[in-house]
Amino acid sequence: MPVPLFDPTSPQAPLRADIRAAVHRVLDAGQFVLGPEVAAFETELAAYLGAGHAIGVANGTEAITIALRALGVGPGDEVVVPSFTFWASAEAIPATGATPVFCDVDPDTMCVTAETVKAALTPKTKAVIAVHLFGNVAPIAEIEALGVPVLEDAAQAAGSTSPAGRPGALGAIATFSFYPSKNLGAFGDGGAITCRDADVADRVRTLRFHGSKDKKDYVDIGYNSRLDEIQAAILRVQLPHLDAWAANRVAAGDRYAEALEGVVALPRATAGSRPAWHLYVIRHDDPDTLLAGLKEQGIGARPYYRVPVHAQPPMAKWAPAHDLPGTAEVARTHLAIPMSAALDAAMVDEVVEAVRGTVLAAR
Ligand SMILES: *Cc1c(COP(=O)(O)O)cnc(C)c1O
Repeated sequence: MPVPLFDPTSPQAPLRADIRAAVHRVLDAGQFVLGPEVAAFETELAAYLGAGHAIGVANGTEAITIALRALGVGPGDEVVVPSFTFWASAEAIPATGATPVFCDVDPDTMCVTAETVKAALTPKTKAVIAVHLFGNVAPIAEIEALGVPVLEDAAQAAGSTSPAGRPGALGAIATFSFYPSKNLGAFGDGGAITCRDADVADRVRTLRFHGSKDKKDYVDIGYNSRLDEIQAAILRVQLPHLDAWAANRVAAGDRYAEALEGVVALPRATAGSRPAWHLYVIRHDDPDTLLAGLKEQGIGARPYYRVPVHAQPPMAKWAPAHDLPGTAEVARTHLAIPMSAALDAAMVDEVVEAVRGTVLAAR
């Protein structure tokens, strides 16, 4: 039986009637931008995360740009960001006028550490973007202890937990994406910003609405970046199921880890965290042969960030002069294998057999 790399559709199937009813509720109300559904979702998301405030925006990329602006980031400032991440984590920085400064990651967790961030700090550093990559939880408190505000890019970490709280409630400000394939996915684009400070929340609300409160008086150059009512209504149906979906991702990850120990390099959860793996990303010295072997057996797999962000041509002018050895290693060796809220034990076992077979045959 083939096993797909990811499957956002199956977990939503039992909710289809509720989702349809929610969409019809919005159609009947006739209010499509910044209405009661967005307001209710913001309250529910903040409560779920244990965050002070949540503000819906149009997508996870603009969420980062707006969050940086709310922290006061602008031209002349530097923002530290890992190079092993989805492109948008860094793409959102030049949009503020600031400069990205690329830092390394720990190849075992694939996240930034206080050490890798510290190596990239300068007197111009205004903020750090710590990405909770693949659902793993970056060490936010340790990075904040360096004395610089931290933005959590939690686009891949909805449903993860850590002893200090959930991603989205760990730093000064955090961003989420509700792109359909994420752990909490809308039926289109969507995003959110969470923060602990009421003044910062107020700035975010103004920035997402053209730099205004009322479209009469303008206090800033802002954005038109709102989560719309239909997406908010759909997300409200799904949010109560996020923990159950996350538990399935955790269980599937645990089953992989037990069965594949010593066969391939496994992703290591950061201290005390329970990652709701968005993607389950292993490492192997010959990922292309492994990929080909898995494909032959109907198992979905793919590398995500083979060329790290700093090595992409539009970022060349900001590429660091020194090597990022952790980034280089994980970029070369990583491979995502199937992970979803619908991945059951039998599917995991099938993937495990295919991985073992391919790796051991090549030894
Ligand atoms: C998906 C993603 C984003 C961007 O979110 P969009 O909603 O697609 O704009 C940013 N950072 C990371 C780590 C992501 O995975």
